[in-house]
Amino acid sequence: MHSLFDHEKLEAFRKEHKLQPYRIRQLQNAVFKNHIIDFDEMTNLGKDLRSDLKKEFEIIPFGVKTIKEDDETTKFLFESKDGQVFEAVLMYHKHTDPQTKIEKLNRITLCISSQVWCSVGCIFCVTGKLGLKKNMNRDEILGQVIYANNYIKNKFGKKEDWSRWTVRNIVFMGMGEPLMNYDQIKVTFPFLTSTDYYGLSSKRVTVSTSGIYPGLEAFIKDNPPVSLAFSIHAPNQELREHLVPMGKFYKLDRLMELMDEYVETSGNKVFYEYVMINNENDMPEIAHQTGKLLQNRYAHLNLIPYNQNPAIQLEESTPAAIKKFKDIVESYNVTVTVRQNMGRKEKSACGQLGYDALKESLKKKLETAKAGTEA
Ligand code: SAH
Ligand code: SF4
Repeated sequence: MHSLFDHEKLEAFRKEHKLQPYRIRQLQNAVFKNHIIDFDEMTNLGKDLRSDLKKEFEIIPFGVKTIKEDDETTKFLFESKDGQVFEAVLMYHKHTDPQTKIEKLNRITLCISSQVWCSVGCIFCVTGKLGLKKNMNRDEILGQVIYANNYIKNKFGKKEDWSRWTVRNIVFMGMGEPLMNYDQIKVTFPFLTSTDYYGLSSKRVTVSTSGIYPGLEAFIKDNPPVSLAFSIHAPNQELREHLVPMGKFYKLDRLMELMDEYVETSGNKVFYEYVMINNENDMPEIAHQTGKLLQNRYAHLNLIPYNQNPAIQLEESTPAAIKKFKDIVESYNVTVTVRQNMGRKEKSACGQLGYDALKESLKKKLETAKAGTEA
């Protein structure tokens, strides 16, 4: 099977079947504008063409294992052809009409995975506990967006103004470290941002990284039309490498230089992500250091209350500690927001992805250990 996003294969197919170029445009529009993922539904293509396409091409190169929903999120568990599981999460941002007081859906964000699990090993992240299984390829990454848009189309239909509900923001904040798989994520950008495809603006696609020099250097050099978030979590090297073990090899000083280089070449602000963990990185003196580090930089700080997890012995910062931290950093003239928690119920929140897989693997380990002692 070929990927429908493989231009050369598609062009060869077009020539072989003596199709006009507009047919390819129709195909692309069916997927990227009308959110169709089944060739049989592309009724404007004709039955024979649909059946020829079906024999050679595929749109979604993975299976769907489970879909879990709560009122804030939908979590998809996908399975790749080689039997690896990974997740993507839709987040429904709502807005209450001040007059009618009725809560309505306002925008939809999709959080996608770029690797099957992760090797960075952050002590607060479930995905990090699982270790790295594999880098995902372009079509597995893009397929998550295509599948999610089709799901939204079926779930929500059209808006009041008759335009379609679609994914409005895409964040590479699911499983994995995107800048350890830069070659494959960068080839998804044209599909996400070009007006021939989804046409999302650079502000609406965000790559989040824990800070990997080679990936960052390549990213800065390419200057792709997407935004950058840096998961900093600590303002000094010692604390950072405790929280982000791979930070031993990628030092904070050099990472901050790279952030400055990025701002210089792209003209974009950097979004700093900071997970707030009780008594680990939320103390007032740490807030002062963070303020000093970010002041005079083109930066925005996003505080993420730590999402607790039975598999990890850490606690969320108290609301008072978060408020104090925010106030202190703001006193250095840095803008700060606190991220709204979404998806905790279904373990779909940041750092909770992979929870079921972790539970399974721990259970297996325990059973093996038990069998060992009983033998
Ligand atoms: N590997 C990349 C992107 C995926 S993680 C990165 O680390 O940036 C996406 C975000 O979720 C990161 O900012 C990460 O720090 C945050 N996160 C991980 N575990 C979390 C947890 N338990 N609670 C809250 N946020 C968490
Ligand atoms: Fe990997 Fe990001 Fe989780 Fe750290 S927070 S282990 S980098 S997925």
